[in-house]
Amino acid sequence: MKQAGRGSLAVFPGSFDPITNGHLDIIARGLSVFDDVTIAVLVNPGKQALFTVAERVEIIREAFRGEPRVKVDTFSGLLVDYAERAGAAVIVRGLRAISDFEYEFQMALMNRRLNPRIETVFMMPAESYSYLSSRLVKEVFQLGGRVRDLVPPIVERRLAEKYGATAPPASPRKRPRRGR
Ligand code: ADP
Repeated sequence: MKQAGRGSLAVFPGSFDPITNGHLDIIARGLSVFDDVTIAVLVNPGKQALFTVAERVEIIREAFRGEPRVKVDTFSGLLVDYAERAGAAVIVRGLRAISDFEYEFQMALMNRRLNPRIETVFMMPAESYSYLSSRLVKEVFQLGGRVRDLVPPIVERRLAEKYGATAPPASPRKRPRRGR
């Protein structure tokens, strides 16, 4: 494994549908250990997402505007192949709770088997984010709950646009647009 030090790059892969303050917390921790972090958005046509990959990339770019150490990219196929191509020796993942552990453990060992040169590093978020997930943010917003302290401002705006309201409806797709 390449030592963390000058020029060290970590890849932080995920769906980021959408990015939350929990992700931001992990990225900030990643930047305290590695020089650069590339947020790699997984292109997975089989998984239903709220935001398109292009929208997710744009949101992340906006959230990290003015932070040259954070880059955004997309990938499909094997993560270890992507990491190798990107020149990263490390994959960063967030561990929220024991419930994350089993899946993450399996993935890390499989990735090690596929490419032993790439190391997986787990980071724990602040306790206040340990219950936070993209899925929960979408559900809470859709039901009219506050997500202000859980996501960057751009995400809150994009959620409002997506659901066509500032006070989100319970059933956004069936709601007629106002003023038309
Ligand atoms: P995936 O579909 O790969 O799990 P996510 O966008 O949900 O994509 O998560 C990407 C990474 O961020 C994963 O390692 C996940 O454990 C981590 N993560 C997600 N939410 C949080 C959070 N609130 N705190 C810490 N890590 C998180």
